[in-house]
Amino acid sequence: MAQHILLVEDETKLARVLELELGYEGYEVTKAADGREGLTLALAGSFDLILLDIMLPLLSGIEVLRRLRKSSSVPVIMLTARDSVTDKVSGLDYGADDYVTKPFEIEELLARIRVALRHGQSGTENEVLECGALKMDMPRREVTVNGTAVGLTKREFDLLGYLLKNKGIVVTREQLLEHVWDIGFDGGTNTVDVYIRFLRGKIDDAFGIKLISTVRGVGYVIKDTADNER
Ligand code: CA
Repeated sequence: MAQHILLVEDETKLARVLELELGYEGYEVTKAADGREGLTLALAGSFDLILLDIMLPLLSGIEVLRRLRKSSSVPVIMLTARDSVTDKVSGLDYGADDYVTKPFEIEELLARIRVALRHGQSGTENEVLECGALKMDMPRREVTVNGTAVGLTKREFDLLGYLLKNKGIVVTREQLLEHVWDIGFDGGTNTVDVYIRFLRGKIDDAFGIKLISTVRGVGYVIKDTADNER
């Protein structure tokens, strides 16, 4: 079955070219020409990936992403204007998986789409992982704590998934970088710390539980601490 891409782009000509190129590569493409339409479609449809322009009428790409991430971890690649460093940073802050700077070569975009789609499928194992009150439904890509849904970015989801697959075992920052980030990613191990902080904010802090522990000088471990105290 063809993978379905949502393309949110207001430049008609560019949108048309991308639609043709992506179609030629075998993707099914749905287009939206403004942020509001894009968000509505993104929330309603089951897309495998979203290409999201930042400068959009009615609702900016960043705002679309921010609202989408409350309930969805679908892979998102931002299309940014040249030299717009602030856009890139806030896009990644709000949970974009990648960004491509305009003007771009179609080959570059296609390569990034393939990487993002591969990551999107990394949680397809037929498993529901659990740790105390936390439940992670891998096939449905849903995370809940005591039945309440937690909106995670794709990176946070992958990170949590890796920790849970190694429940009770300490994993090093290097292991996390290797398994959750791309090989060759040169952001350094403090990137891991930053994302662990995001996860703790959304899970441990938000629900007043303690699952993710730091093992000083080694790395991180997820375990149900209530279990240990019993
Ligand atoms: Ca635009």
